[in-house]
Amino acid sequence: MSGRADVIVVGGGVNGCSIAYRLAEAGRKVLLLEQRGIASGASGRNGGMTGSGAPHPTPEGMAGYRIRVANTELMRHLPEELGVDFDLRLEGSLNVASTPEMYAEIDHAVRALEAAGLESDVKLLDAYETRQLMPALSESICGAEWAPDRGHLWPFALVHGFADAARRLGAEIRTGVTVERLVVEGDRAVGVIANGERIEADDVVLATNAYTPRILPDLPAGAIVPARGQILVTQQLPPVIPYPFGNNFDKEYGRQTPSGQVLCGGYRRLDVDEGLGHYEERTSPPVLAGIARCLTTLFPSIAQVKVVRCWAGIMGFTADGVPLIGRYDAVPGLTLAAGFNGGGFSWGPIVGVIIARILTGQEPGFDLAPFNPTRFHGGNTTWNNPYTAGERSNATGSVPVA
Ligand SMILES: Cc1cc2nc3c(=O)[nH]c(=O)nc-3n(C[C@H](O)[C@H](O)[C@H](O)COP(=O)(O)OP(=O)(O)OC[C@H]3O[C@@H](n4cnc5c(N)ncnc54)[C@H](O)[C@@H]3O)c2cc1C
Repeated sequence: MSGRADVIVVGGGVNGCSIAYRLAEAGRKVLLLEQRGIASGASGRNGGMTGSGAPHPTPEGMAGYRIRVANTELMRHLPEELGVDFDLRLEGSLNVASTPEMYAEIDHAVRALEAAGLESDVKLLDAYETRQLMPALSESICGAEWAPDRGHLWPFALVHGFADAARRLGAEIRTGVTVERLVVEGDRAVGVIANGERIEADDVVLATNAYTPRILPDLPAGAIVPARGQILVTQQLPPVIPYPFGNNFDKEYGRQTPSGQVLCGGYRRLDVDEGLGHYEERTSPPVLAGIARCLTTLFPSIAQVKVVRCWAGIMGFTADGVPLIGRYDAVPGLTLAAGFNGGGFSWGPIVGVIIARILTGQEPGFDLAPFNPTRFHGGNTTWNNPYTAGERSNATGSVPVA
């Protein structure tokens, strides 16, 4: 393919690859452009946790929950559909409370769901019940929130699975190609300039997450902000952590992979500027020390294991904590799927279906109003992102860090 496509998808993460796959499946001539390699951004550097999360009694909370529930259901079929085993385990997760304050917050959250009449499988467990499920947890924990429909996966394998499936259906995927800018004629996007070459298309989709502001200068400043996260991984261990876990108001998270390695991340609040506004994929000792302390405090029996690797990745955080999904009305021909905060694997597979429906003239099947990509054009980019709020107000300050 050269010079022209039906749809150009920019970005080879979970969103770009799932969109390319679904559009190719719908018979579109797709060209995906990725500046580095497939899954080289956040999609290849994340914790691998997934699930629908809890509903929230707001329009955007409910709309997002419905999308994530559909995503979880779709995910169950993907190993067979894509012909790839990406180690999907949807057997439940524990958000562990290691202080009475955390337990009170979880208790409050679970009761609020009940009071709002929202159906949810999320349950509050006391310390005994929690340790029945995960005996390696410290005896000092206070309890946990148990969510039976959450779990984990191997993100790299899933993203490559989408990319390979897209290729099999005729999509062209070019890596090492940077989109420098959009080509806009009149007010309409008609293509991109990539590595100096002009490539035209009927539609351009930006699945560029944190990097979106760089090629969409029209996006109001502060709508999407890079947020650096860091992760460490231990040597392989016998099975010790049967379920993925969260801790410290869900700011820390971890899991044991099927190969036995334990992976843990979080503590962004110990990074420079809490990791916000930084594009360098750089780890830092205070963050890694915080993560290690969290892991060994929760699971004292693994205090002596070796850390074999660590890395950083850049997320796209949005001012309101809600992603941007859909046509970008300010520039006809342009569509966005960006700003997935800390949870893109609870959205990406179904986002491919949604964007393909939109670009083939079908109903998206979900209420997308809360995700309108031009919602910040009114000027309101006041930072109100719940995934950083606890850190900014240092709600977890009571946790000791070396
Ligand atoms: C440390 C960490 C832990 C996380 N933990 C979890 C977790 O446990 N569960 C979960 O669901 N999510 C987690 N996330 C978030 C998740 O990884 C993201 O939400 C998700 O990967 C976003 O996918 P994406 O395809 O939108 O973006 P990305 O994967 O970032 O892909 C965007 C791609 O666009 C490319 N690109 C950008 N600009 C251009 C350009 N101009 N030209 C060409 N290509 C371009 C980039 O190179 C990149 O590959 C975590 C993220 C990090 C960093």
